[in-house]
Amino acid sequence: MHKAAAEARIADESLAVPGFAGQVIAWQQQHGRHGLPWQGTSDPYRIWLSEIMLQQTQVAAVIPYYLRFLERFPTVRSLADAELAAVMGLWSGLGYYSRARNLHRCAQLVRDQHGGAFPASAATLATLPGIGRSTAAAIAAFAFAERAAILDGNVKRVFCRVFGIDGFPGEKAVENLLWARAQALLPERHIQAYTQGLMDLGATVCTRSRPKCDACPFRPSCVAHGSARVAQLPARKPSKPVPQRQTEMIIALCGDEVLLEQRGPSGIWGGLLSLPELPGVDLPGDASDAVASAAAGFGTVLRADPLDRLSHGFTHFTLHIRPWLVRVGERHVMAAEPSAFSWHRADSLAAAPLPAPVRKLLMRLLVEPRLAGMD
Ligand code: SF4
Repeated sequence: MHKAAAEARIADESLAVPGFAGQVIAWQQQHGRHGLPWQGTSDPYRIWLSEIMLQQTQVAAVIPYYLRFLERFPTVRSLADAELAAVMGLWSGLGYYSRARNLHRCAQLVRDQHGGAFPASAATLATLPGIGRSTAAAIAAFAFAERAAILDGNVKRVFCRVFGIDGFPGEKAVENLLWARAQALLPERHIQAYTQGLMDLGATVCTRSRPKCDACPFRPSCVAHGSARVAQLPARKPSKPVPQRQTEMIIALCGDEVLLEQRGPSGIWGGLLSLPELPGVDLPGDASDAVASAAAGFGTVLRADPLDRLSHGFTHFTLHIRPWLVRVGERHVMAAEPSAFSWHRADSLAAAPLPAPVRKLLMRLLVEPRLAGMD
């Protein structure tokens, strides 16, 4: 055996838990769900149809749709031959309509590329539209008794709690670990009852909120229950770090007037008066030359000095502003055509439509005139 494959097999075996599958099977046979319309058959078409419908929808909502579909399209060929509009119409109300489009496309591929019969392995089923790895395994287990591991959201929750698996299950490393665990736990026999049992446990006992631990066969060994972490497992999706943006703002002062820029109608500060910016520029440590040259368009720059930074939080990002105080000796005459830039008396700023951080910056300068050399 290839070294890596052998190591993977050893790792898989280390994740096996003797008796786990037997407990699931015994519990399913006694307490699981029986008599659902898609149970008691090994017809892959019916099983596939139910698994697709159940992907994001509760059993009770699926049953009438499932029965109507089977009545109208009793075989995969009849579904493949139907107009898409007829399929969509029958699906109407079940939601997540990409499922219906994939359903139709999948039926056509089964008709055209597989001779009208669903392929009998999870690996090949997973190549068809709308059939992910877990759905493929469920169909293969129920229809062909293949020892294939399922891992839908319910099963992830059960595993995370029973085995005390930390980390967000949507993260690749955690998901890989869960798949390895799912694979290692598979029973040699009764794959249908085992697969159905995992589904039933997740849907009826180990529910997301208020799980019924008293009715759970794993209560004595469940890590989450034993360590009072049922509410914490599985771990929630971690919040993303807030993007950070950097901008240089120019506070050009000429006498007691400040240069402001009228923003265009769109954007975060659309329609407001703000300070000229050098946004997102990766300026070197001492950027006074770059700032002075940007400000030179407004007048004769006497000096440019950095002031204390200011950070402002928006809903989707944080803006870090480095203000530059630029002393302008003689200002240029603005172009004849309407310009976005204009000079404003410092004592008129209180009533000006300024963005909050710009107002803060300017007020800081005005109430501490020593900083700006305005005394
Ligand atoms: S004991 Fe509770 S938390 Fe643990 S698997 Fe059972 S229902 Fe879920």
